[in-house]
Amino acid sequence: MSDQPEVIHQPGEATPQEVHNALTGTGLHDREWADDQWHALLTNLVASGMATWKDVAALTLGHLNPSQVGTSLASSEGFKRRYGKGNTMRIVMEWAYQQTGRCADCGSRLELQADHMKGREQFEDPLDADFIENMTLRCRRCNVVRRPSHEFGGLTYLTAEAALMWILLVVRPRTFRDYVRMCRLYGMTMADIRMMEAWAMAHWLAKANPPAFGIEDDAATFYDLLLWPDNAITRVDSGRPVPGDAKQVAAHVRGDAVLGALAVGGDGRFRWYEQPLSFMPFSTYDLGNKEPQALAISYTPPDRKARTPQKLNPLPPRGMDLRAYAIRTATQRLTAVTGTGLTRDLPTSSPNGKILPFSLGTGKVDLTCIETGQQQQPETPSLFTDIENG
Ligand SMILES: [Zn+2]
Repeated sequence: MSDQPEVIHQPGEATPQEVHNALTGTGLHDREWADDQWHALLTNLVASGMATWKDVAALTLGHLNPSQVGTSLASSEGFKRRYGKGNTMRIVMEWAYQQTGRCADCGSRLELQADHMKGREQFEDPLDADFIENMTLRCRRCNVVRRPSHEFGGLTYLTAEAALMWILLVVRPRTFRDYVRMCRLYGMTMADIRMMEAWAMAHWLAKANPPAFGIEDDAATFYDLLLWPDNAITRVDSGRPVPGDAKQVAAHVRGDAVLGALAVGGDGRFRWYEQPLSFMPFSTYDLGNKEPQALAISYTPPDRKARTPQKLNPLPPRGMDLRAYAIRTATQRLTAVTGTGLTRDLPTSSPNGKILPFSLGTGKVDLTCIETGQQQQPETPSLFTDIENG
């Protein structure tokens, strides 16, 4: 995720504290939603000026129109080959009139498309799949989720383009990074560029008067940091009550500070991680049945060539054996003081971490801040255990 662009806070934009979300209890996925929740979402979009009832009606009418059902088939090579160019449209429309006009899978009347019952890939000559008895009607969503490339097909009711707006307007990410993390957690596998485009809506709404969206102003805000039982570290607004299964590890930390963490991975080696607070996920969202620290993830895109799916990895030190952590300002460096009194300079690192180029020996390790040649205790004490560094 380090190749993501910095999202700069615009002057005059709202912070999340200034914007109230009228919808609550929604969760990340929409599959469990009841009719009255959908109704509330729509009413809210209209009431907030995002759309008018006329917009809603016009879009619905447009999507009810089965405009591509006939021509998509009549223009296909397989149909023209089988039925002859002059006959195809008549045969296709006779078939269309005989249908129920609902999606074969979900029953929707919206965005219906002609789809193969037995797929093209099941025929030696793919064009042999094109015969009228092999066709059925499916809505665009059901058509898309049947594709093998769609890993999370059926998890939600929404197409990806609708879900991008669902997450933005209902779950309300406070930073672009959290937005991308939510989209990945939701099951989206497309390129980040789709989320960057959708995030424009957040900026537009944040600049409205009164502001209708809150984008975090990281550098001008103070946060409390929470450590979760799986060693995920998240941030919350300063002074917020600490949830029962989390532990507050730092209070009132500037948003431009950096968290350093020393942790041991599965291979038993020490790794050193540095994570700016602006990179750190919030644990303040309603993610439904997902744990509050669920956004402490990083993302590896799917490899289409190697046919490997996308990977969501825990964001260190989540899932690792956390040995020490401390917070430094942008101008400070951190050092490790070993149990035998040796001081080791810790290299600058990233959320991806670095394997330590030196041994820390056994025993207690202490993290210390260094600034302009002077040593001082970090504002936040380190977490220590007796360690074995093999
Ligand atoms: Zn459907």
